Amino acid sequence: MASNKEELVFVPLGGVGEIGMNMGAYGFGTPAHRKWIVVDCGVTFAGPALPGIELVMPDPTFLEENADDVLALILTHSHEDHYGAVLDLWPGFDRPVYATAFTAAMLAAKRAADNIVDNVSIVPMRPGRVFQLGPFTIEPINVAHSIPESNGLLITSPIGRVLHTGDWKLDPTPVGGAPTDVDRLAAIGADDTLPLALICDSTNALKEGSSPSETEVGDALAELIAAAPYRVAVTTFASNVGRVISVARAAQKAGRQIVMSGRAMHRISGIARELGMLEDIAPFLDQEAFKTLPRDKVVLLCTGSQGEARAAVSRIARGEHPAIDLNAGDRVIFSSWAIPGNEREVIDIQNMFIDRGIDVITRDDGLVHVTGHPRRDELRRLYGLVKPAVLVPVHGEAVHLRAHAKLGRDSGIPSVIEARNGDMVRLFPDAMAMPGEVRTGELYLDGTILCTPEESGVKGRRRLSFGGHIVVSLCVSANGSVAAGPEIAIEGLPEVEDDEESLGLVVRRAVTGTLKSIPPKRRSDPDLVNAALNRAVRSEVNAFWGKKPNVTVFVHRI
Ligand SMILES: [Zn+2]
Ligand SMILES: [Zn+2]
Repeated sequence: MASNKEELVFVPLGGVGEIGMNMGAYGFGTPAHRKWIVVDCGVTFAGPALPGIELVMPDPTFLEENADDVLALILTHSHEDHYGAVLDLWPGFDRPVYATAFTAAMLAAKRAADNIVDNVSIVPMRPGRVFQLGPFTIEPINVAHSIPESNGLLITSPIGRVLHTGDWKLDPTPVGGAPTDVDRLAAIGADDTLPLALICDSTNALKEGSSPSETEVGDALAELIAAAPYRVAVTTFASNVGRVISVARAAQKAGRQIVMSGRAMHRISGIARELGMLEDIAPFLDQEAFKTLPRDKVVLLCTGSQGEARAAVSRIARGEHPAIDLNAGDRVIFSSWAIPGNEREVIDIQNMFIDRGIDVITRDDGLVHVTGHPRRDELRRLYGLVKPAVLVPVHGEAVHLRAHAKLGRDSGIPSVIEARNGDMVRLFPDAMAMPGEVRTGELYLDGTILCTPEESGVKGRRRLSFGGHIVVSLCVSANGSVAAGPEIAIEGLPEVEDDEESLGLVVRRAVTGTLKSIPPKRRSDPDLVNAALNRAVRSEVNAFWGKKPNVTVFVHRI
């Protein structure tokens, strides 16, 4: 369906049909000659289903194929699901990255902390300051979220405009930053010279009402800290600088000092202080100060709200932290929520505290955490402000995208497109999605190696994790006698032993029995011996264990 008409298109490469690894490209031109800008370049944290894999990121093959026409990467904010893959994927493009001061500092700190060699060239970006990239005019617009300096992007092309919201909420009273620029959004809606497409956050599209304000969370935390008889520990996302400020103000009001523990928390607070975001906040004390302060004069701010085993709160719960200990009567506030997949770890930590008589407060007990994403009333309000002709729900799993699309249709948006990663979405003229037009998928970061799921060893690792591994090695001579071995190594199988029987004995018997059963002449054939041993070990172990192990046999002919 080749055409010579100029089009404005949107290609989601990640984050549409999943929550995580957001990456999308906007193209303008005729299908044969398009210029591209890329918005965000994020990661997803791999769960237990991907053993050994640290991070998952979008496959950028489509952009690599169009690398000459890719103009730049623009980062909306510095949450990992939006910027976590920049240093892995972007250096190869040799194109600038537009980022605010906070996001740029976060990127530099990540590079230093992880000893990453590759770098990218940063162009500073600021809300309201318009810049030009080829046929696109871009205006960052301040939005409230759960990290400093989040931006929506107004992207104007010769035939239509896009408001790419990024992650946002309509918090009229955020902490540590300006509210969403509602006046500017209204002005965008009032300007009808070019039609507008809204590419919008769907995270909370299933939730009615409006998300509470960060200020209300601050008030709830202040009450809980003021009323606590002894020590208070608060764990939250290190990047939620607004929350750190709320806790610090609450502590100051209650005459308590803040002790901080956790590398990420120190790093990000350091950036925030350097950028002048913590001006009315007293310096944070290091964890060594914790034990020197009276029990009712301290608030601990620490990492580990997702149950990470090595983070501060988990070590404190296990009583293994070198500098910090809590006692019965102390209070721990989880100013956070457990990202799906982390619930078990978080509950385990809470149980440990409760068993030690420590008072645990979660968002079930009070407004100690609030989402950074818009609920349905906020989405409706945004539609009313910017009056989109086209809506493409993004940043959500299928259920969120579907709910958001329905809300958009019910609110009277003329064209609502339910896209997925890898679709080519024409926004203007005549909005429509061309499903699966573009190659996309996942890349895994395994140690320092970036690979496709097929290239990764994950399948083999899963097999090993289920069936363990048995290695048998021996040498046979030309006349068929066993010249050395058999050596047997067993890894990852149960070691229940009574006097009579064990897996080790079963394996050894299977090997020696099989060797005996092969006539000496044929025993000099390594391939034959190898196949017979493999079969015998698998089947004997299966008879004993009820599961087939992974078996490797080496037969050397000498
Ligand atoms: Zn975010
Ligand atoms: Zn996000």
